[in-house]
Amino acid sequence: MTGSRSSGGSGFVRARQRLLERLGAQGITDRRVLDAFRAVARHELIPEALQLRAYEDTSLPIGGGQTISAPGVVAAMTAALELTGSESVLEVGTGSGYQAAILARLASRVVSIERLPRLAAEARRSLDRLRVSNVVVHLGDGTAGRPSDAPFDAIIVTAGGPEIPQPLLDQLAVGGRLVGPFGAREEQSLYRVRCTGPLQFERERLGRCRFVDLVGAHGWAA
Ligand code: SAH
Repeated sequence: MTGSRSSGGSGFVRARQRLLERLGAQGITDRRVLDAFRAVARHELIPEALQLRAYEDTSLPIGGGQTISAPGVVAAMTAALELTGSESVLEVGTGSGYQAAILARLASRVVSIERLPRLAAEARRSLDRLRVSNVVVHLGDGTAGRPSDAPFDAIIVTAGGPEIPQPLLDQLAVGGRLVGPFGAREEQSLYRVRCTGPLQFERERLGRCRFVDLVGAHGWAA
């Protein structure tokens, strides 16, 4: 790798270190989660024109009217999943592939679904460039989940929907966690749902947030 797309550029390394300090100050204390953020080069996953802003704690446009989520949000959602390393994870909304690359370091395998063909293809290329081999990217409507790969120990929804898609609850393993933003189009609540037994769920509200639309059969209409 050369030039501005190198992950070793010292400016990027220093910026990433400052981001880690900010995440720590925001209450992200899980060492494994922080190590994942140290390891993944966010600047490799965004349009080149925006790379100098890669380690600001802000969402950035990635094309198709979509955004890469702010690192603080990615970190909070990742921590809420309580991953130990052995999990099979479903992500709905691959986008840039950043969240998937973080999850890949914290779980055994990640199935990620993206509805926009260009973003799915670009994310695959980015993940290959970062040598992430335990993420499979599928094109389709993630609100239906992926029954052939279920059950999942963890499910993360990275776009905002009107309600928690029932197929995703159906595909959550007993003991599993689902984290995602649900509510109105303008603003959502971030929820964590635990599957505590067959057809038994406990729901916690973690805070307020604002995501791009979850579009699909169990989301908003296109
Ligand atoms: N996790 C991403 C965030 C991307 S923004 C990242 O780390 O960059 C949310 C993404 O969800 C967008 O790319 C959007 O196209 C996608 N999306 C919205 N509805 C979807 C659906 N029903 N299935 C799959 N992807 C969806």
